[in-house]
Amino acid sequence: MTTSNPPFPLRCYVCVNNVGQIWNKVKLTTEPKKMTKNLLKLPKLLEKAHVKAKVICRGCKMQQYCSVPHLIADRPGHQPLCQVLRDLQKFMNIEHPLLLHGRISDRSKLQFVISQLKLILWIKLGRPLAPRENQLIGNPVICDVCFSTDALQACEGCAGVAYCSGHLHLVKDIHSPKECRTLALIATPLRQLDCLQNITKFYEGSSLTETHLIDAFFKATSLNISEKPIIDLEEYQLLATCSSFSGIASLCLALTHIFWVSSPDKAFIVYVVGATEEHLRYFQIMHLQFLFLHYPNIRHLELMFIGKSLEKMEAIKGVLSVNNLKRTVIKRFYPLTFSQFSSIYNVDPTLIFMLQPDFIGTGNITQDLVKALQVQTEETEFFSWIDCLSSIVQLFGIPICYTSISKVQAKSDFTAINMVAKKKKIAVKRVYNLTDNPFREIIPFHNPSPENNERIVYENNYLEVVFTKNK
Ligand SMILES: [Zn+2]
Ligand SMILES: [Zn+2]
Ligand SMILES: [Zn+2]
Ligand SMILES: [Zn+2]
Repeated sequence: MTTSNPPFPLRCYVCVNNVGQIWNKVKLTTEPKKMTKNLLKLPKLLEKAHVKAKVICRGCKMQQYCSVPHLIADRPGHQPLCQVLRDLQKFMNIEHPLLLHGRISDRSKLQFVISQLKLILWIKLGRPLAPRENQLIGNPVICDVCFSTDALQACEGCAGVAYCSGHLHLVKDIHSPKECRTLALIATPLRQLDCLQNITKFYEGSSLTETHLIDAFFKATSLNISEKPIIDLEEYQLLATCSSFSGIASLCLALTHIFWVSSPDKAFIVYVVGATEEHLRYFQIMHLQFLFLHYPNIRHLELMFIGKSLEKMEAIKGVLSVNNLKRTVIKRFYPLTFSQFSSIYNVDPTLIFMLQPDFIGTGNITQDLVKALQVQTEETEFFSWIDCLSSIVQLFGIPICYTSISKVQAKSDFTAINMVAKKKKIAVKRVYNLTDNPFREIIPFHNPSPENNERIVYENNYLEVVFTKNK
């Protein structure tokens, strides 16, 4: 669901970025002629983007390119970060930015150096890092065994991991085919193509507690996700489309653990709290058809998107027919925080749904650190969940469902709810705590704040349902 997917550092930045740029042109043009022209350029660009990077920037020793012309072409975009890293190496008298605290001996030291480098860059640049800079520093090219930065070779299969010349022969033993497939999906230039297929035909629902996303998607749509490595655009789009059903399928699964009286005349009202533009992609017509397929008793669905960053939009009303049953759908959009919303409107949802809310701001720890150092940064609005949570925990008896990207995140989210509830003397009851959501997305990410056992994560990895009641 995350649309900004900067090229993985083991590929030529320019080549992969070209794919993304042409794709954006395709999406934005309305002239069919221009669109076809750009689409025809795509296969060649994709092929180029798969070429091994063999030129490393001599300044930062981190950014890679296919060729010198592409290194030169990328100067303007890469220069600011490169200059800081160049100065740092000179000042510290080190051969590589990652050697800031000497040789890296283990993964926790690596993580420490990465966060230090991010902090240094932020302070020196006087702004938050761009996605491409975060990617370059956060997933640096190093030997996966000994963390060396010398003479590295990428795995031919995935280009998602590298080994030094001394450890390259170990690839067969330590790099499993499954891991190679997963890393290939992280590093593929196809990640630049974020368009979903539109599915119109739906067939059969599944028993949600006994299946997972790929199988439920297959039963519902008759479309099969290949187990083999993804190589072309069509396959990738199908995978991304299946993955996008994660939001609605997680909601459907949460519903199996909630007691609710379904009366055909009463509207089923979902509040998507903390909604962003990105979340809206989870609730397209095809996704709602999936919901209706699994819950024939829901005849009237109301989706209220409540989120400060949303644009102001008119309500969308429509009628859908699934399995010859007519269903009405209303989507409303409120560019408000939930506490603002609840002070204006009468709050009466069937359930509250939050997608990867990050209540405490675990993902913003570095940001907060910079703030604490009082560095002048761009005015960014860090909107606080705490007010919002205070209003939510007072909705006694209404199921609160939320997803989290990692185990640490899931724990911190639950702690936040408990903390806020405790202050208000409200009891929290956990009815569903899923350690592995079978309906998580299927497109992998590097864990932005990795632990040893969870280096790779998926959106909606964890699903939780809680109720609150007066103590
Ligand atoms: Zn290139
Ligand atoms: Zn550089
Ligand atoms: Zn090594
Ligand atoms: Zn591999």
